[in-house]
Amino acid sequence: MKFETRAIHVGQQTEASTGSVIPPIYMTSTYAQEAPGLDKGYDYTRAGNPNFTNLEEQLASLEGAKYATVFSSGLGALTGLISTLSSGDKVIAFQDLYGGTYRLFTQVFNRFGIQFESLHPQHPEKVEALLAQKPKWLLFETPTNPLLGIFDIEAYSKMAKRHGVLTIVDNTFATPYFQSPFEWGADVVWHSLTKYLSGHSDVVGGVMITNDDALKEQLNFARKAMGLNPSPFDNWLTSRGIKTLAVRMEQHQFNAQSIAEFLQNHSKVKRVYYPGLSSHPNYEVAKKQMRGFSGIVSVEFNLSLEATKKLISSFEFFTLAESLGGVESLVCHPASMTHASIPTEERQRMGVSDGLVRLSVGIEGIKDLIEDLKQALANVR
Ligand SMILES: *Cc1c(COP(=O)(O)O)cnc(C)c1O
Repeated sequence: MKFETRAIHVGQQTEASTGSVIPPIYMTSTYAQEAPGLDKGYDYTRAGNPNFTNLEEQLASLEGAKYATVFSSGLGALTGLISTLSSGDKVIAFQDLYGGTYRLFTQVFNRFGIQFESLHPQHPEKVEALLAQKPKWLLFETPTNPLLGIFDIEAYSKMAKRHGVLTIVDNTFATPYFQSPFEWGADVVWHSLTKYLSGHSDVVGGVMITNDDALKEQLNFARKAMGLNPSPFDNWLTSRGIKTLAVRMEQHQFNAQSIAEFLQNHSKVKRVYYPGLSSHPNYEVAKKQMRGFSGIVSVEFNLSLEATKKLISSFEFFTLAESLGGVESLVCHPASMTHASIPTEERQRMGVSDGLVRLSVGIEGIKDLIEDLKQALANVR
């Protein structure tokens, strides 16, 4: 079955008792039992709900995997996964990571004895040496936030496997429409459903996807035991959003590629970060493992911090806001917003300069978006 068909039909059967084409929203905390302990597969919504099951079947199918477990948020999903580790276990990660991921390891789970080390894998022998210390996981995003770095999933998951280390891939930026990490050897695929998958900036949610029977049991247990469950209504909205994922992603990508090319040739632009440009340092890897380059474009302007702030406040269609992946275009200034908690020196070492701007390119008419960028750029110096 094709991706577009699976997105619409898997886990989304018509409801038998009424014929309702769209599965209902099961806003219930509890379920009637026929006899003590005899239920119909659900007993309490912290542990499970038909809307969780519908969305999980849909997501597992899109990633080509056996199991998905939905959570309250992307970080809720990571909390569930980390809870399967024990004190003393170690996790290796590649920078640049989503800020909340870094914070969860370094300000919460470090106090419970989970060791965490992040590095940029410029030197494969350093990665190899760290993996030889037998950490439990190698965790990375590709593309990364906000610099759109690309890591070779096949190469690093092979390296991890040689040392018995699990590879966890945050596939939020690419979505299963453009990238299938399991095909390249990943063991667990993680998403913030808040972004492209739900797609309309109206839901917060997360998921962990795996082929491992024992891990699926552990994730279900973590959700129930720690209260990491989502709302049935949010899951229903996410299932609805996913049905249009394919058409949305095509438009996000078309608009993003057009904007990246437009900005690349603009005199007020120093550098454009987009994996769909042949000037991207890992363009070849991106082409190998991705079917498209998604909708985030980061750009460094030849402008002072003052002028950059003025620029991003003068757009008509790019709303100044955090988050990404919705149908509407957003603009964010990492140095003063998403990455403000990182000390200036560290931020600059990572490549997040004061002039860096991240665009989440929406699916509006491309002509309107380019005109908007033109008018805003014409008004700063
Ligand atoms: C937003 C995001 C997360 C965290 O997800 P939440 O749903 O906000 O908890 C993790 N990784 C990436 C790449 C993200 O963009």
